[in-house]
Amino acid sequence: MLATVFCVAVALVKNVLASHQQPLLIDPKDLHACSILEFQLPGRVSFRDSDVYKFQSESYWATNQGELSAFCHTAPRDSQELQQIMLLISQTGTFFAVKSGGHSVVANTSNVVDGIVVDLEHLNHVTVRPDLGFVDVGVGARWNDVYQKLEDTDYGVVGARAGSVGVGGYLLGGGLSPYSGVAGWACDNIVLLEVVLANGTLLEVDHGHHPDLFMALKGAGSNFGVVSRARLQLVSAHDRFDVTFIHYKAEHTMQAVHAISEYTDVANEDSGAAVSISVGGLYDGRRPTVSAVLSHPRSVLLSKVLAPFFGVGHHLVSHKRMSQLELAMMYDAMNPRGFRQHRATTTIRNDVDSLTDIVQDYVSKLHPNMSCFGDEDGQGGLLIQPLTKSHLQTGRWTNPNMLGLQEEASPLLLLSVEARHSDLHDDELIRPLISEFIYAADRNATERNASHDFRYLNYASADQFPFEHVRRDHKLWSEVQATKQKYDPHNISGKQMRHPFKIQPYS
Ligand SMILES: Cc1cc2nc3c(=O)[nH]c(=O)nc-3n(C[C@H](O)[C@H](O)[C@H](O)COP(=O)(O)OP(=O)(O)OC[C@H]3O[C@@H](n4cnc5c(N)ncnc54)[C@H](O)[C@@H]3O)c2cc1C
Repeated sequence: MLATVFCVAVALVKNVLASHQQPLLIDPKDLHACSILEFQLPGRVSFRDSDVYKFQSESYWATNQGELSAFCHTAPRDSQELQQIMLLISQTGTFFAVKSGGHSVVANTSNVVDGIVVDLEHLNHVTVRPDLGFVDVGVGARWNDVYQKLEDTDYGVVGARAGSVGVGGYLLGGGLSPYSGVAGWACDNIVLLEVVLANGTLLEVDHGHHPDLFMALKGAGSNFGVVSRARLQLVSAHDRFDVTFIHYKAEHTMQAVHAISEYTDVANEDSGAAVSISVGGLYDGRRPTVSAVLSHPRSVLLSKVLAPFFGVGHHLVSHKRMSQLELAMMYDAMNPRGFRQHRATTTIRNDVDSLTDIVQDYVSKLHPNMSCFGDEDGQGGLLIQPLTKSHLQTGRWTNPNMLGLQEEASPLLLLSVEARHSDLHDDELIRPLISEFIYAADRNATERNASHDFRYLNYASADQFPFEHVRRDHKLWSEVQATKQKYDPHNISGKQMRHPFKIQPYS
């Protein structure tokens, strides 16, 4: 009965939304800045009516990001051109956004309404130096480009699971990877960054040069400047990934949930193991299904910490040895671009009762409520990923980041809700449902003393503040704000970027 009332209400709201489309406003100074840019850098600027602009708009993963109408796009060919662009943007006061791979689903992060998109697609070189143990990557490269270059070497790199994800945004948000148990966040493996500040200054930052900025960039997204190149430490990978996919019977959902909690407690005993569990599926009225992806650089079956996953009733197990590139291509196939996408996240301590309640809430409320939108592309899930102790503490002494988790004594569980659909009008219906679900999950975790205030930037929704956890650490937050004051004293990114994840300098 409740679900029926909800579905009728949804139909009514959809009609109202359909009749209230807002026109977009254009600021003349953006037109002005685009025209100057075109004069300064001929061939590097594309306007709304051009094929290049259309192509670039279609390269976003989520259509709700790609459809935002920037006044122009500019795609520098090298760091010097990027310097010119940033200088002009700051001098003209124009709104702008920076795009690497365009996989963010939060509006105005890598696209911008009526401003300039700085598209880093051409800064995409990849140079592997096995002799020196690193790979140099232009941030406009996709992870597939990097994995491709490593395919015939004995090395891997801590990068995204899906290969079409861009290097830039992923790295600057932290970066979770199947290698995270052994090597931490992707940002823990950054050796050096080349960055263009808002005033056009080009800096190379590492432990010895601008260490404050180097630390702040690892987790802060686009708050401190535009990164053009990253030098990443290689990971020794003599073998291919051993990967096992398990599809559980729906009635065993909670046992699978118990297995991930059990694993999270002991994961440190075998840091090579990596696990994610997804509860979800099509919004076709059926009960969501549960699947797990287990990987290990050597052997999934021989890893004792992964044993709990095999003790649960399942439909299907498949097993494959895969290179990093093959694994990334498989994830790409499971996550096609071209849909409207939404995502939100929370983090809890590894409390099995809290986790069970949250999954139960997803299965019994959120998923069925989404099912009534009648969108045949509708699909979503709750993704559960352990943040193991070795993952969180890597780099604690040698490579500090600004995620604020390096002192965590216990493992955590990162939860994210993801939803995709095609109908524009469902955006305004789906987002509040997801927010309510996350709110209820947080409340549940708080009641059970299992809450944690880390909100992963790369999974956060527009109404979440990913730096809350850092803000509560007064020492770290003061350092971050001082760094902001030093490198972006006029707060160009705060004032001229429309994205919601802002770090303000001292007020
Ligand atoms: C299919 C899929 C798979 C994913 N898999 C993983 C995963 O395995 N692990 C994980 O941790 N995350 C994963 N993510 C999340 C992903 O890390 C984020 O969406 C990330 O922001 C994508 O980076 P991008 O460069 O493609 O995005 P973009 O949309 O281009 O950028 C995202 C944000 O970063 C900023 N930014 C980008 N480049 C720069 C730069 N060079 N300088 C300054 N700011 C910049 C942008 O302005 C924007 O705010 C996945 C996402 C998708 C859609």
